[in-house]
Amino acid sequence: MKKDSPVCVELRNVSLNYLSNGQNVHALQDVTLAIRQGEFVAIVGPSGCGKTTILKLVAGLLPPTRGEVLIDGTPIKGPQKNVGMAFQNPILLPWRTALENVLLPLEIVQPHRQEFARNRRQYEEQALHLLHTVGLEGFADRAPYELSGGMQQRVSLCRALIHQPEILLLDEPFAALDAFTREELWGVLQTLWQDRGCTVILVTHDLREAVFLASRVFVMSKRPGRLVQEAHVDLPRPRTLENTFEPAFVGLVHQLYTCIGEVRA
Ligand code: ADP
Ligand code: MG
Repeated sequence: MKKDSPVCVELRNVSLNYLSNGQNVHALQDVTLAIRQGEFVAIVGPSGCGKTTILKLVAGLLPPTRGEVLIDGTPIKGPQKNVGMAFQNPILLPWRTALENVLLPLEIVQPHRQEFARNRRQYEEQALHLLHTVGLEGFADRAPYELSGGMQQRVSLCRALIHQPEILLLDEPFAALDAFTREELWGVLQTLWQDRGCTVILVTHDLREAVFLASRVFVMSKRPGRLVQEAHVDLPRPRTLENTFEPAFVGLVHQLYTCIGEVRA
């Protein structure tokens, strides 16, 4: 990502209130941020502070109550097609193979549907290439139940990227995995991002994960969620697990840890 890349995602003074059962839940309060094309940012903050809500706003699944959400300078009006998403639970269709799960968005999202019907072979090549990148070469024809949790999450990352979205939204994607698998997938995600150059917003509880992957980390307050700090991670890339033991890395994690402690108190 170049420092002067154009802004891709922008929130301008965004507030969001949920109305449920007559109750007004003030989820976000006056959030302003700008993320450049190709940037990798992370959002951390206490449970219930509105992190998932921010991703839903960027995906166009929710309109803001106040303020504006823009993609490439245009205020968004509804669900976005140039966005890929992956969540804590990979939610693969059990009756489909890994490859067929990766191809799923192409069968659903216009304008890919027609192209996909005509050029199925070509898209399958792309899906196989993605599976190869995440270390699942040879597993394309396996059913989800034959794959470990970490492998399923790799499939889910491929599925989020198959339609070559400009923006990748990740909601605690590795939270359900054991520590070794999780840290292995940091490297996988870093490679995917460096290959593709998409803009990534990662929501995570794991401060080391945030520092490993992101160029900037936003810290949010308790609900109603506001941005309270923005940490720049100027560590060289590609980052390795070995780097996570170095003073610069540990110092940044510690700084975030202190900030989160203050926010939660
Ligand atoms: P986070 O992802 O940071 O844990 P969320 O964005 O999911 O937080 O939610 C922010 C707040 O809004 C929480 O208090 C949550 O209970 C509330 N909330 C989320 N979705 C809804 C909804 N559809 N209706 C009412 N309240 C909601
Ligand atoms: Mg959430």
